[in-house]
Amino acid sequence: MARPVFPRSLAEFQARFASDEACRHYLMACRWPDGFRCPTCGDAHSYLLAARDLLQCRACRRQTSVTAGTVPDRTRLPLPLWFAAAYLVTTHTPGFSALQLQRQLGLGRYETAWTMLQKLRRAMVRPERDRLSGTVELDETYVGGVEEGRRGGRQRDSKKSILAGAVEVRGHGSGRIRLAVVANLSAATLARFAKEAIAPGSIVLTDGWHSYRALSGSYEHRPTVIGDPKTPPSSCPGSTEPSPTSRPGCSAPITASAPSTCLTMSTSSCSVSTDAARPWPRSNPCSA
Ligand SMILES: [Zn+2]
Repeated sequence: MARPVFPRSLAEFQARFASDEACRHYLMACRWPDGFRCPTCGDAHSYLLAARDLLQCRACRRQTSVTAGTVPDRTRLPLPLWFAAAYLVTTHTPGFSALQLQRQLGLGRYETAWTMLQKLRRAMVRPERDRLSGTVELDETYVGGVEEGRRGGRQRDSKKSILAGAVEVRGHGSGRIRLAVVANLSAATLARFAKEAIAPGSIVLTDGWHSYRALSGSYEHRPTVIGDPKTPPSSCPGSTEPSPTSRPGCSAPITASAPSTCLTMSTSSCSVSTDAARPWPRSNPCSA
């Protein structure tokens, strides 16, 4: 039996998922399209303990959680709230911040919206997704605000998070993107990120940072060396603006969504919704 049809409009969505019961039945229909069977005895007869979100087998009385393994698992938030959050996050282009989610859902605490967004973003990453291929630009930047007395560039004792990014180059635009928080800028770390994000044999464009030399074994590595490779480059390959890493005291622009983005990416390099017609903001203007 096929999964239930998803609503096509916001009005349809709101009408259909207005109650806990409606949301629960939708989840059950998605998880067990051929009807629930007890995982212990295989019996097809069960009843719902709605207050506890549990299905109880009539034969052996085993209890199975309706939400186990789903995004709302082990949360106290009402299912309609979770459904509304999922709708907003998955239908909004180009993305949705925790602050927007808090406002749209009328949540009292920013932290609640932030946690919901993390769970939804993790669920949106397809585990078996393909690695990037073709021509891929690889770079990294620091995220975390202004550090007093900094000249910018790659600095070992920085307290900021380091964000590695790879993006497919498609003409004048960009294709798929992979991002991850990395521990440092060593050759081993960047090679590991590249291995997870980029298919072997791809053309990889980087700046002249010496750690990227290790990429030559698996990729057609094309560094663009500007000045001394041990010092920060003045610009990224293919970029029209200086890299944020090269700006004195500069950090990448940080919005309310930035912290959540980083945490999502620390557990799994994350697929970001992309539009091939929109250039990837490789060198965001410095806001600091
Ligand atoms: Zn049973």
